[in-house]
Amino acid sequence: MPFLGIKLRRPQKDRKTVLQLAPVADACASEDAAHSATPELDTQGPVTVLTDPGGKLTIDPELRQICAVMNDGSFYVHKDQIDRADIAALPHTAMTLLGLKLSDPIACEFSELQDIYGVSVTSGEYASKARAEIERILKDAADKRASDIQITFLPTGTKIVYHINGYRTDTVIELPPLLGDAVYHAAYYLADHGDTVNSSSENVKVSIADTSKLPKSVNGVRMQFARLANGRHLNMRLMYAEKEIAAGGLGSLGFDKSHMLLFREAQKSSAGLITNAAPTESGKSTTLSIFCSELMDINDNRLTVVAADDPPEGIDPRILQFSVDASVHKDGQDPFEKVLEASLRVAPHVVKIGECRTKNTALAAMQAVYTGKLVLTTLHTLNAMQIPLRYQWLGVPADTAFDPDLHRLWIAQRLVPTLCPHCKVQAASDLENPVTEALFASFEPVLQDQAKAVCVAGPGCSECRDVGSMKGLVGRKLIAEVVRPTEDLLKHLKEDTRTGRDYWLRHMNDKSMRLLGMDHLLAGTIGLAEYASFIGSADDLAFDLSATTKAQSVKSRASAVPLAHDPKGMLH
Ligand SMILES: [Zn+2]
Repeated sequence: MPFLGIKLRRPQKDRKTVLQLAPVADACASEDAAHSATPELDTQGPVTVLTDPGGKLTIDPELRQICAVMNDGSFYVHKDQIDRADIAALPHTAMTLLGLKLSDPIACEFSELQDIYGVSVTSGEYASKARAEIERILKDAADKRASDIQITFLPTGTKIVYHINGYRTDTVIELPPLLGDAVYHAAYYLADHGDTVNSSSENVKVSIADTSKLPKSVNGVRMQFARLANGRHLNMRLMYAEKEIAAGGLGSLGFDKSHMLLFREAQKSSAGLITNAAPTESGKSTTLSIFCSELMDINDNRLTVVAADDPPEGIDPRILQFSVDASVHKDGQDPFEKVLEASLRVAPHVVKIGECRTKNTALAAMQAVYTGKLVLTTLHTLNAMQIPLRYQWLGVPADTAFDPDLHRLWIAQRLVPTLCPHCKVQAASDLENPVTEALFASFEPVLQDQAKAVCVAGPGCSECRDVGSMKGLVGRKLIAEVVRPTEDLLKHLKEDTRTGRDYWLRHMNDKSMRLLGMDHLLAGTIGLAEYASFIGSADDLAFDLSATTKAQSVKSRASAVPLAHDPKGMLH
């Protein structure tokens, strides 16, 4: 396989010949040799691998994954393993048992060792084993509804963990180095490459959209290969066919009544930018897909809706799905921008673009809005109030980024893991746990008396052990904020995000994620640790609380006391 770029230090044909000449029956001879103090060893003839299974130098199978000793004394060791004690001991063993002086360790790659032992990662036994292994892992992860499969390839072995309900699991599978390496390449070859094959050892992003290669419930897989200091890492994000959820509409996702009113209004508008801002794995893309399906229902299927996603999501067959191959950057153009251009040529009413991550994509999306289209996209940012600033950071001019004529709707959402009701414990009675102690100390001054009601995840029980990846957590709850940006709000946000946020909470009757999250925190649906890591800090909550308390006190005083009779200036 050309991409491996295997360059043996010795001509391969010699070794192949030699390997054929080294019969398995030699195993018995090697046993004898191992017990002989001054063995006969042919160091002049053709090169043989002494550490072959059944070879003259018997080593542990695990050690064979990382080194090879030849009869001429060449001593190949995986480059990251040279300092291991059992490697350092091998020259002594070779001298004692075989009278053979080994060379200094020759640093090499796994691929070279595999070639020495006559197995290749891309063909033959290992490749089919690896392919079967990756299919098994994908199916297992899909059955458990994992959002990600994280595979870490280290010289000592390969560890596989899943992300379930927002958290990493314990190690699910461990593989020996050779098989792990083969799995790495097998995963790479599952992707839809076309002819743009880079080396899988580089930092690359590829997708699997061919569903025949995937478990039934999975529509696509996005893979990110990365190089680590001491190995490699592969993240596989699983995209599920969410049909059963789509059937229930946005309401079934967990949006509340006030959110739904804003969605309905936006679904009837002909132009504008709808941005769903959230970190990865918060369901933001599912929300927009279902939004599109509902929009088509509401408008009697009279609208042309195009979508560009990586990988294509294919939830609704009525949506014209353009495929984005995020791994292709031949001309330096963002693939989303390119696909957006192409999709606009079919004169759509509605455009859903997977992600705005470059200036040009954002500008193209905004241009589409100004020509009268409804454009939906996602943005990586923490909350709704940061959306215009985030566009500005991408390089969109401030006047456009904060243009009230541009923005139609802002959504921000989180899927927060929920507490197992059977084993959750009150935070106040878990203070010997240093994390609870620290979080309680920071939230108590904000929540005051109500802090007593706050819970944390319990030790795990028979009800929750097999449901989540973390003890005491089951399922997830959608917590979201949906905002109809007004001219005044944008004016304040342009001044300063905190000023804008304060204005929003005081004047617009919306509830922020932080405040909705607090309701769930006080109800014991979500725990203190989950609030802090998915929604915000005690300071964040204090800010929103003070803005709304101020608003409430102004309102109640205004109705009780006429403004003119406010001698002490309490309202200011
Ligand atoms: Zn439990």
